[in-house]
Amino acid sequence: MSREAWTSRRDFVRISVVLPAAIAFGAGSEVTAQAQQRPPTPACADHPDATPGQTEGPYFKPRSPRRTSLLEPGIGGTKIRLTGAVLSTDCKPVSQALVDFWHADSQGSYDNAGYNLRGHQFTDDHGRYRLDTIVPGLYPGRTRHFHVKVQAPHRPVLTTQLYFPGEPANLKDSIFHRDLVIRLQDAGAAAFDFVLDLSRR
Ligand code: FE
Repeated sequence: MSREAWTSRRDFVRISVVLPAAIAFGAGSEVTAQAQQRPPTPACADHPDATPGQTEGPYFKPRSPRRTSLLEPGIGGTKIRLTGAVLSTDCKPVSQALVDFWHADSQGSYDNAGYNLRGHQFTDDHGRYRLDTIVPGLYPGRTRHFHVKVQAPHRPVLTTQLYFPGEPANLKDSIFHRDLVIRLQDAGAAAFDFVLDLSRR
């Protein structure tokens, strides 16, 4: 089962168990309020699977600029903020992990001459990253996706891709992987946590 499906099911189970229990034992609004204040998704499963790797594709370029925003003046497309963390398989945040994104513009084209929509950053002390960019456009043969490389300090590079939920082309793309679907949050915001197996050298 995908991590997304797993968290969704766990949230469903939590809600369906906690709320009737609160009502049955007369705990009142306090418990209900606590349940509502919990984050919608857990930060990390007990023993999450490592994020699967995927093909790099033909458009990676090394030495991207270090930046958390790929937004340029006059850029077209729908803005999106992607946030999350880099975690180990025992749920520890990985600080100073390299996270390097590249993706197509709103028309489905990559900038292979320059570095538009390319950028790397390092996770903070809590293993977190944040990317401000646009929703990638579609190009023939693929569903909508981000490319990304993630690397804990002194560990191998994980090359993978991230996908959007509910994309019709997900069903037709042989590379698509349901464990790599971002979680859409509020308008313009999405989340994905990378999980690295730090025992790999
Ligand atoms: Fe691509």
